[in-house]
Amino acid sequence: MKIGLFFGSFNPVHVGHLIIANYMATQTDLDRVWLVVSPHNPLKPKKTLARDYDRLHLVRLGIGDNPLLEASNIEFSLPKPSYTVDTLAFLREKYPDREFALIMGGDNLATIHLWKNYETLLTNHDIYVYNRPDADVSAFAQHPRVRICRAPMLDISATYIRECLRTGKSVRYLVPDAVFEYLESSTLYRSEG
Ligand code: ATP
Repeated sequence: MKIGLFFGSFNPVHVGHLIIANYMATQTDLDRVWLVVSPHNPLKPKKTLARDYDRLHLVRLGIGDNPLLEASNIEFSLPKPSYTVDTLAFLREKYPDREFALIMGGDNLATIHLWKNYETLLTNHDIYVYNRPDADVSAFAQHPRVRICRAPMLDISATYIRECLRTGKSVRYLVPDAVFEYLESSTLYRSEG
């Protein structure tokens, strides 16, 4: 089984994330996609980042009953800050019969040479890249492990959603219904800090 890992803070998850995840699970050779929720990095200020388990819960709500997608908290128990190469080494050991690939936006691919042990990543794993506006992926686009995918793009960010919630505007349809309903009845993202 080939699993695509889609890393993010998902603060909160929105339909832009889920469209990419579902596209990768249904229109590539990936069998499953895991949305891997990044825990709070103790080296970074917490500010507007919701608690790890709240974000995980919202990802689960957003996925609903889609059997091809899964929310993963695998990084919560790994040393922080977590580096993708270490998380992958851990996953390979834990699930030796599975193949893990990475899913990332062109913006991330453009700076992958700054990631810890990026050569190891590119040697051992396929990378599925979806285009993002203004991203120059050219440096690595030709790499044999890199697959550029034409997934639909939505101009939605978690930053925008948090801003809407903070200022009392509706996020209906920007997030899945279940996430919308949860956010409506919660104080998450309603105030700064
Ligand atoms: P923020 O606005 O807080 O930076 P974000 O919406 O960009 O958040 P992240 O959780 O940081 O979300 O993103 C996880 C991954 O999803 C990142 O690799 C990011 O490039 C990608 N992503 C974010 N928004 C979209 C979108 N609208 N369409 C496709 N991919 C997206």
